[in-house]
Amino acid sequence: MTVQIFGLAVARGVAIGRAVLIASGRVDVAHYFIVPDQVDSEIARLRTARDAVATEFSTLQHDLPADAPHELSALLDVHLMLLRDEALVGAAGVWVRERHYNAEWALSAQLEVLARQFDEMEDEYLRERKADLEQVTERVLAALARQNGAEAARVAAPMAPDLGGEEPLILVASDIAPADMLQFKRSVFKGFVTDVGGRTSHTAIVARSMDIPAVVGAREASRLIRHDDWIVIDGDAGVVIVDPPPIVLEEYRFRQRQIQLERERLDRLRHTPAVTLDGQQVEMLANIEMPDDAVVALEAGAVGVGLFRSEFLFMNRGNDLPGEDEQFEVYRAAVLAMKGLPVTIRTVDIGADKPLDRMSLHELRHEHSLNPALGLRAIRWSLAEPAMFRAQLRAILRASAYGQVRILVPMLAHMSEVRQTMEAIERAKQQLRDAGKAYVDVEVGAMIEVPAAALMLDGLLRYFDFVSIGTNDLIQYTLAIDRADEHVAHLYDPWHPAVLALIASTIAKALAAGKGASVCGEMAGDPAFTRVLLAMGLRSFSMHPRQIAQVKQAVLRSDATQLSTELPRVLGADDPQAEATKALGIGMPLTTQSV
Ligand code: PEP
Ligand code: MG
Repeated sequence: MTVQIFGLAVARGVAIGRAVLIASGRVDVAHYFIVPDQVDSEIARLRTARDAVATEFSTLQHDLPADAPHELSALLDVHLMLLRDEALVGAAGVWVRERHYNAEWALSAQLEVLARQFDEMEDEYLRERKADLEQVTERVLAALARQNGAEAARVAAPMAPDLGGEEPLILVASDIAPADMLQFKRSVFKGFVTDVGGRTSHTAIVARSMDIPAVVGAREASRLIRHDDWIVIDGDAGVVIVDPPPIVLEEYRFRQRQIQLERERLDRLRHTPAVTLDGQQVEMLANIEMPDDAVVALEAGAVGVGLFRSEFLFMNRGNDLPGEDEQFEVYRAAVLAMKGLPVTIRTVDIGADKPLDRMSLHELRHEHSLNPALGLRAIRWSLAEPAMFRAQLRAILRASAYGQVRILVPMLAHMSEVRQTMEAIERAKQQLRDAGKAYVDVEVGAMIEVPAAALMLDGLLRYFDFVSIGTNDLIQYTLAIDRADEHVAHLYDPWHPAVLALIASTIAKALAAGKGASVCGEMAGDPAFTRVLLAMGLRSFSMHPRQIAQVKQAVLRSDATQLSTELPRVLGADDPQAEATKALGIGMPLTTQSV
């Protein structure tokens, strides 16, 4: 039966494929296809892992002290029974044989199928055995990881081989941690759906950076969709269609082809300079998460990196945070890859929906901090960990000897933070001089993400060389909307008059002071906002590389001088979006105009 599930449109495009349900905690399990020749050895891996766990359980049972409670032994019996049941490891082998899933993926897929059956059981005692099944599966996954020689092998997915005939797959999960999203770049999935999350949650941002269709905040999705269901993700409308009838499927396949053609057309703009109709140069910069993204940025025609989100280096490492040398290598790799173009490295922005350890949004909100977005985040965390902060600053400064580097500081709200940051930079430089290590005096910029920072901009401009407006957070903190919370996503409004007023005044003041001004939040990559930002005087946009062509197209079709005369009307309107549609012509379907 066809079902439509509504969520939030976060990454554009259409994906059609079979659903793969993954429990939130298991998104980190490697998902890749094996080649047909490996089927037998992969099934053997599963059996060996199962036997190893069975031996563990038997030994545990054997070694139980005589006075151990009877329940413990009974529990081990249940675990052994579940482990030996063909419905788990035996049936996982079928996924390997028929679908060519790797062993870890096959086991998780089978767990999902069985977990559903347990959920539907009438008998409460039997229903509760699901937890046992999960524990047993965890053990087998751990045994598989040990076979690979290290836990890391379980996490890092090998490149998915192209098996041509395989059906496209779409991941469905309650939640995906931002760090797990990075694996998507190497995974087999063509799109994803999650129950939770907002439009500018970091999971959604990473999805956009990879240009994979996605819908988040589709609350009941992981309950309504079943493993193997055919689904369509309409990433433009924020809709998921489960089991679509052939006519709907045909329509979406047609849309997919149109989107592809449109992309190819836009691709031709890659190396066209971004200049407005009245001859104003506009800088198109890239947002990146990893040094490898620099290559994609250059290919997309970026003239530099406006935001390197360094925190992705810090995630999922337990207590083993990257040290100075490791970070230096990474920053230098990005700087070298950009071949002399500027690279703006943001100091670590850990916290809020980007915790150090893999955690679901649910865990974050309910078990850690009541409201992590208002907690120890970004520069606050860095200043609370001075040794870590100085190590990062030294690493960035050392990379400056290999190209054009700029430092960007996130989430400033207090002048005391500014002073402490400047002191930390000075100390880092002193330490490098003492150690005889080379660095260049780099420009330092402030992210404007908190209304307080926008309101005290004059003070900040005395210390910083440039500002970069993080509209994702600026909207969140101006409107008191948690950007990752789907329940209030309808109130997260970039067109809100207060948001526009803060952005406009920040750009105007920075430019008047002769300092650089850029926008690196999601508004910069959305062509719906290009004209209003140009009207405000913005000439530097930083976005996901794949968004550059469409924003450039909007720039090429705009007259910045004329737009600026209309700005007061837009800023003074009750409904700025409606006014901008009339006055700036933003409602015009850009895609049907010729460049
Ligand atoms: C922003 O807040 O707009 C921004 C660019 O930073 P992040 O999305 O990483 O918080
Ligand atoms: Mg931010």
